[in-house]
Amino acid sequence: ADEMNIISGALKFKNIRVVDVMTPMDDVFMLPYDTALSFDTLTLINNSGYSRIPVFENERDNVVGILHVKDLSLIDTDHNLPLKVVLDFYSHPLFSVFEDVTLDVMLDEFKKGKSHMALVRRVIDNGITDPFYELLGVVTLEDIIEELIQAEINDE
Ligand code: ADP
Repeated sequence: ADEMNIISGALKFKNIRVVDVMTPMDDVFMLPYDTALSFDTLTLINNSGYSRIPVFENERDNVVGILHVKDLSLIDTDHNLPLKVVLDFYSHPLFSVFEDVTLDVMLDEFKKGKSHMALVRRVIDNGITDPFYELLGVVTLEDIIEELIQAEINDE
């Protein structure tokens, strides 16, 4: 019955973690904090096709903000404005989750409306140095919805 499909879909949803559906770091389109907003940079951003772009300082592991591409709509590329000016002005909240957060919990977080993109991280505790975070990837509402739809399709 339909009810059974919905229930089994929901149960699976609880067993899938964000790390299973995220976009891994190697595939994430990011920009360095010290980028100049030149014509070439804006072309690169537009060609990426993404609406949110993590911005890092020094290392890709060190994300300091999220650029919303729509924030660039009024930028005059003649000024080569530093990206950090735009980033600091809008200062969208950075939202991080641990890799083992399940999709039902993640969906609830996204529904609270903080942001529709989260950084996925893991704690590395090697017993030698202080524990630190490793950035694994990004997850968006789209990744969750896709999984939900997939679960329903597979149940048909
Ligand atoms: P967009 O609005 O940019 O298309 P979505 O939230 O619809 O982004 O997500 C679509 C897919 O793209 C998801 O799998 C998401 O993880 C991935 N994604 C989103 N932003 C980026 C980015 N900057 N780099 C790489 N992948 C991304």
